[in-house]
Amino acid sequence: MPAVSLGTPHVRTAVSPDGRPDTDLLVDRFGRVARDLRISVTEKCSLRCTYCMPAEGLPAIAADQLLTPDEIGRLVGIATARFGVHDIRLTGGEPLVRREIVEVVSRVRAAAPDASVSMTTNAIGLDKRVHALVEAGLDRVNISLDSVDRQHFAELTRRDRLPAVLAGIRGAIDAGLSPVKLNAVLMPETLRGARDLLAFAVEHDCRLRFIEQMPLDADHQWAREHMVTAETLLAELGRQFTLEPLGRDDPSAPAEEWRVDGGSATVGIIASVTRSFCGDCDRTRLTAEGTVRSCLFGDAETDLRGLLRGGGSDDDVAAAWQGAMWAKPWSHGFDTGAPDPETFAPTTRSMGAIGG
Ligand code: SAM
Repeated sequence: MPAVSLGTPHVRTAVSPDGRPDTDLLVDRFGRVARDLRISVTEKCSLRCTYCMPAEGLPAIAADQLLTPDEIGRLVGIATARFGVHDIRLTGGEPLVRREIVEVVSRVRAAAPDASVSMTTNAIGLDKRVHALVEAGLDRVNISLDSVDRQHFAELTRRDRLPAVLAGIRGAIDAGLSPVKLNAVLMPETLRGARDLLAFAVEHDCRLRFIEQMPLDADHQWAREHMVTAETLLAELGRQFTLEPLGRDDPSAPAEEWRVDGGSATVGIIASVTRSFCGDCDRTRLTAEGTVRSCLFGDAETDLRGLLRGGGSDDDVAAAWQGAMWAKPWSHGFDTGAPDPETFAPTTRSMGAIGG
């Protein structure tokens, strides 16, 4: 494992007792710097996607255990002003299910006027709230959509809500939140509708990306041998579209892109399993209850809510956050790299409970 190599001007040489350099940044032991903050705002969701949520939903979090909009704003202020975080994404659960979501966006924007503020959402109800959200400071949305076939969608999500999702997508486009990105989880069940999904994305000028399914389903059904490879997806899409490889926006970008039919549309594949990009990971996550989670597959979490409510200063909160990120595992929850890069540490939280 590489020793910490922190050649940036922000990093001073003195170290804390755990060996951490005296720096304002969110650094880890492997030299990565977190600048992308994902905040889960609720565990509740309007869908029950089989690869994410249990059929009965996640155990409810008591209202007083959730970070308040004020607390979220304070943490965002610390992240941006002290750590140089510049991308903030609200997620869940389903962020639109949180009653105070507009207030959350507005607190985030007030705390981080120059940051990019985005949301990952299933778009149910987005058409009704998109203008308020944009006015509050939302810049972009990533919308999850695995099928444009109503019955297939209902099977995958255990809810017959495709019309509401399509209305939400239309609302986002009409509100000028472009480019609207569509995320589909790549698995055997989504493969059969993949061409229709791409045709929909091209028609509506949305950027579709397929994400390899990770072992973060609440039902623990994920198995490596059931994974659909990029080659299989490309062969399926190639039956209808001409795809020209474009590579990546930059070498560390997670999505590899293809141009569709020689036009302006692209389709991307995020190979989270077969091409781990942990070495370039720049994420720090806050769960809805206010714990820092440094890695999707690392169950160690550090409580910030208790510090906020116990009268902790910004210095106290920042120090706890930096300590949590210093302990960030190297990859997939493992500290020194798994012998097989496609191995994942088992995690007690599913994707919906972490905030994807
Ligand atoms: N409810 C919102 C939504 O549907 O986008 C936000 C939360 S959801 C957990 C965030 C993202 O995680 C979605 O794009 C979803 O497809 C993705 N996701 C959930 N489970 C996953 C898994 N097992 N592997 C890969 N991506 C997953």
